[in-house]
Amino acid sequence: MMEDLLRQWDGECVVVRYDRETDTWIFIAIHDRTLGKAMGGCRMRVYPTPADGLKDAMRLAQGMTYKWAAIDFPFGGGKSVLAVPRRLEGEEREGLLVRFGQMIEGLGGAYYGGVDLGTTPEDMNIIGRATSRVFGRTLDHGGVGDPGPWTALGVYAGIRVAVRDILGREDLDGVTILVQGVGGVGGPLAKRLYDGGARVLVADVDEERARRIAEEVGGEVVASDDVYDTECDVYAPCAVGATLNARTIPRLRCRIVAGSANNQLETEEDAERLRERGIVYVPDFVVNAGGAIAHGALEMLRWTREQVERRVLMIGDAVREILDVAEREGVSPLVEAKRRAERVIAAVRKEREELAAAES
Ligand code: NAD
Repeated sequence: MMEDLLRQWDGECVVVRYDRETDTWIFIAIHDRTLGKAMGGCRMRVYPTPADGLKDAMRLAQGMTYKWAAIDFPFGGGKSVLAVPRRLEGEEREGLLVRFGQMIEGLGGAYYGGVDLGTTPEDMNIIGRATSRVFGRTLDHGGVGDPGPWTALGVYAGIRVAVRDILGREDLDGVTILVQGVGGVGGPLAKRLYDGGARVLVADVDEERARRIAEEVGGEVVASDDVYDTECDVYAPCAVGATLNARTIPRLRCRIVAGSANNQLETEEDAERLRERGIVYVPDFVVNAGGAIAHGALEMLRWTREQVERRVLMIGDAVREILDVAEREGVSPLVEAKRRAERVIAAVRKEREELAAAES
């Protein structure tokens, strides 16, 4: 099973370790380093089998290659998975994280890890005892803290562009935007949209949180079950993945989908389903890159916050270009975002080959 997965994968390599002490399988998948060091989060969760963990690591690493390339940012695609047998706490968790840090250190800078599903900034502090090749630590450990507001800034920039392109509106005055999930990203996003003049609708399974944010932004609460049937201009999924699928797409009553949630499409065909319904989908991996940019730029490239802010706002430019080409060529924005990423990587490869040829 694992052999088949590796044989079919087009990535560079996967580094595997079985951590005997905790019965955990560790996979570090490095997909493509054409643009720079492989950088992507560390996911910790229980999988049905170790092969499922490996598959997830490979899929996510490939996603990171596309994410960095689509916004033309100098990092490569990588991701790690700690496939634990059960939720680990205390000393057991700490030991695993330190050994994982040593493993990252052993790769000599090929891979940099950060926070992902199931890991926290505190976990990154622990990994950081064994390696400096980690980002997303807490502020007191030299990290940049919560990436949510940065991600929200990028989504906001993407929504502004899509609203201008699709609705022909220069501002958000009176534009209705439904934010699904008002946590670390959706909360700050709702506030920005409100400040920008939008009418904000809020949905969250945590009803108390939904009420509180709705009050702050003078908006209305939409029941979680009603999200897909609610009329709005923009639907911003900022909760969980796979909310766009064959069951929900026919129900949507919006013109634009743009939000932070990862893997919003259940299958790639859903991009075409949305296009057929005349709904413009802004690819998640482009519009939600703000937090990743901030982590990479602030912690690894040592940019100032002003430089980072400017770069995150440039997500809007990427969205504009992707929507323009997709419209012109009659393809979904997902297809164009992927082509764009592939073009960026191919251009760098070509440049290198030409340089090497000139030198020899
Ligand atoms: P979070 O856990 O802080 O917030 C998620 C919110 O969604 C919570 O309030 C939760 O109650 C709510 N929620 C969960 N299931 C829901 C459902 N079915 N319907 C409505 N609400 C639901 O997470 P976050 O950091 O805000 O991230 C949100 C999404 O964006 C995730 O998919 C995450 O992977 C993605 N993302 C986050 C970042 C970041 O910087 N935090 C970056 C890139 C992508």
